[in-house]
Amino acid sequence: MHYEVIVVGMGAFGAATLYQLAQRGVRVAGVDRFAPPHDQGSSHGDTRITRQAIGEGAAYVPLALNAHRIWRDLEAHSGVPLLEACGMLMLSDSRVATRGHGTADFAGETAAMARRFGIEHALLDAAAIAQRFPQFTGYGPHAVGYYEPGAGYVRPERAIEVQLKLARQAGAELFTNTQVTAIESYAGGVRVRTATGVLTADRVISCAGMWSAGLLGGPFPQLLKVCRQKLYWFELDEPERFATNAPVYILLDGGADTSSCYGFPPVRGENAIKIATEQYADICDPENLDRHITQADAEAMYEQHVAGRLAGVSRRLLKSKVCTYTITPDFNFLIDEHPELPGVTVVSACSGHGFKHSAAVGEALAMRYCGDSRAADLSAFSLSNAAGWATR
Ligand SMILES: Cc1cc2nc3c(=O)[nH]c(=O)nc-3n(C[C@H](O)[C@H](O)[C@H](O)COP(=O)(O)OP(=O)(O)OC[C@H]3O[C@@H](n4cnc5c(N)ncnc54)[C@H](O)[C@@H]3O)c2cc1C
Repeated sequence: MHYEVIVVGMGAFGAATLYQLAQRGVRVAGVDRFAPPHDQGSSHGDTRITRQAIGEGAAYVPLALNAHRIWRDLEAHSGVPLLEACGMLMLSDSRVATRGHGTADFAGETAAMARRFGIEHALLDAAAIAQRFPQFTGYGPHAVGYYEPGAGYVRPERAIEVQLKLARQAGAELFTNTQVTAIESYAGGVRVRTATGVLTADRVISCAGMWSAGLLGGPFPQLLKVCRQKLYWFELDEPERFATNAPVYILLDGGADTSSCYGFPPVRGENAIKIATEQYADICDPENLDRHITQADAEAMYEQHVAGRLAGVSRRLLKSKVCTYTITPDFNFLIDEHPELPGVTVVSACSGHGFKHSAAVGEALAMRYCGDSRAADLSAFSLSNAAGWATR
C-alpha cells in the first residue's frame, strides 16, 4: 500500500502529526507497535505540565501558544476536556540559580520569556507565596515565586486518543500492534517494513520516542539517551488544601536540576497528588526497562520532596509508574531530515518537556509538508545544532 506520508509511532508527536496531516486531506497512515494511548513509552501518567513562557528558550514559545489554541480546538471538536488551566507556580530561592532542561537559570529565563512575549504572570515574594498558596511550606525568606495563571496541565492519554480518533475520521489509516522493523529509502520513496508486511510512502515522519535510536541508526544512537523516570501519587489527608488555588508546581531546589521536583493538583475524581523529580543518571535500554517502583523508592521520595514541603499530603502511595525521557545532549528537541535516509523526517522531541508542544509540532510538520509558508519555525531543532553541541 502506498501513502503520501507514513507516520511511525502514534504517541504524543505521531498522533498530532497524523491528525494534522489527515485534516489537510493528505493520504496518510500511522503505524505503532502498541495501541496508543498506552503506558509503554513516554506519554502516560495522566497529566503533563504546560506553560507558555518557556524557560527552555524563545524558539519554544510560539509552539506553546499554538498548542494551547489546538488543545482548545480539539476540546471543541471532541467534547473531551484536555487542558486544565489551573495556573503554574515555580518556586525558587533568589540566591541560587537552578538549572532546568539545559537552562542555567530556569526561573530567571522563564520570567524573561514572559516579559518578552507578553505572557501574563506575577512575581511573588515569600509573604505573597504563603498568603496565596499555603499548601506549599518549608521554604525560607529568600523564596521567590513565578506564577503563570494561563499555565496548567494537559491530559496526555486523552489528547492522543482524541487526535487519533479525529485523524481516523478524516481518512487516516491506523496500523496498531504493528512493529516497524526497518525504514529504507529508495529512488522516489520510502519503504516501511513491519512485522506483517511492507508499506511505502513519499515521506516518512518518524516519531518513535524512546525507540528512535534503535530504529533510525545513523547519528541517533550517539545523540539520544533514554533516562528512566519515576512518578508517584500520594493520597491526600486534607484534600481541601488542594481544592482551590491549586496550581501545578515546579519546586526548584539548589543548583542541580536533579534535586528539584514538580507536581500536580488532584485530577477530578482522584484524592492524590502526583509528584516526580527528573533524573538523568539512570540510562536504560528501552527494550529492557525496569518498570517496578519499590516501597523504599516511595519513602525516599516522600522524605525528600513532600515531608515538610507540601501540607496535607499523606505517606500513602496510591499509584506509581515508570516513564522515560529521551534526551538530546543539550536537552533540546531534535526535528530534522535523516542524514542517511532521504525522505525521512526524524522527530525526537521529548527531553522531558515535549508534551506541551506536541500538538503544535504536529501542526508545523503538516503545514510544512503541505507547503504552507505560515508553518511554525522548527529550524532551532536541527541536527546540526544538536550535533554541534555534542562535539563542543
Ligand atoms: C515522567 C515524564 C514526565 C513528563 N512531564 C512533562 C511535562 O510535564 N510537560 C511536558 O511538556 N512534557 C513532559 N514530558 C515529556 C513528554 O511527555 C514527551 O516529550 C512526549 O510524551 C514524547 O512523545 P513521543 O511521541 O516522542 O513518544 P511516545 O509518546 O512514547 O510515542 C512513541 C511511539 O512510537 C511507537 N514506536 C516506537 N518504536 C516503534 C516501532 N519500531 N514500530 C512502531 N511503533 C513504534 C511507540 O509504541 C509509541 O507509541 C514528560 C515525560 C515523562 C516521561
